[in-house]
Amino acid sequence: MNNIIDGKLVASNIKQQLKEEISKMDIVPKLAVILVGDDAASQVYVRNKTKACTEVGINSLQIILPNETTEEELLWQVSQLNDDDTVHGILVQLPLPKHINKDRVIDAIDPRKDVDGFTKTSKFIPCTPAGIIELLDSVPDYNLEGKTALVIGRSDIVGKPVSKLLLDRNCTVIQAHSRTNYGDLLKLFGIADIVVSAVGKRFVLDEQDANCYHERYNKCFGSHIIIDVGINRDESGKLCGDFSESFKDTYSRYYTPVPGGVGPMTIAMLLKNTVEAAKNLKNMA
Ligand code: NAD
Repeated sequence: MNNIIDGKLVASNIKQQLKEEISKMDIVPKLAVILVGDDAASQVYVRNKTKACTEVGINSLQIILPNETTEEELLWQVSQLNDDDTVHGILVQLPLPKHINKDRVIDAIDPRKDVDGFTKTSKFIPCTPAGIIELLDSVPDYNLEGKTALVIGRSDIVGKPVSKLLLDRNCTVIQAHSRTNYGDLLKLFGIADIVVSAVGKRFVLDEQDANCYHERYNKCFGSHIIIDVGINRDESGKLCGDFSESFKDTYSRYYTPVPGGVGPMTIAMLLKNTVEAAKNLKNMA
């Protein structure tokens, strides 16, 4: 019997705790979100983030800039927010238009206000990886220590930081990526206790692979915890993860659905980091 790890529920509990915490604070945390251009998905993400701020009592400021904004103009905007004492968290929605150097802009954010956790010196853990650990911790009677974790994907915002967090929790971490031999991926999946997939492609492994694994090694999948980070669209435009829901249902003990798994946690951790930033900055003032 498989169990879904309900990201919406875990996120909603975190938001409730934050709401109570904020109601007792003597300042109102404020998050500034900068969006450059008119990417439709980014507009939805920004809307969801500011809506979540309102739900818990965080003030939010949306700065929408046209696609032709120059890097200098964007850097100026970031520096204004760095200097604004009423702003505690700054988020620059990615991706940025191609003519802007993303790293230069992210590195310009005051590390004390970088609630996305993307600058090298940020005080915060990146939201998606932090949310993944919270989801694993929500599994009943499950201890991460000593588990073998396969992380598929090695991006700076998900794959690498989640591997580091899992290592910090004493997991044995295997990092797979686009150059990992496909046959090896299957073998690694078989030996892992935890699988975190952050690829962004459908069917990273499917039922046929699982059958092939079974035939080759005479072993079954079935005891995994699968955290599916991928956000993809199927033929009809519906959101889906790196694995099909039926694959996860058949070959895991617990898994995160898409949608309703990692996504809501990313936002919850952003809110958590913003509250933390507000408290830290107040203590420094
Ligand atoms: P990315 O494109 O930067 O990285 C993808 C990684 O997958 C790369 O490291 C690459 O080496 C690896 N890869 C590609 N093909 C592979 C294959 N066939 N086998 C094994 N590895 C392969 O992407 P990202 O920013 O890390 O995001 C990954 C996915 O997670 C995307 O779908 C993204 O939308 C999603 N995401 C979701 C959330 C959320 O809140 N739910 C947050 C961030 C990212």
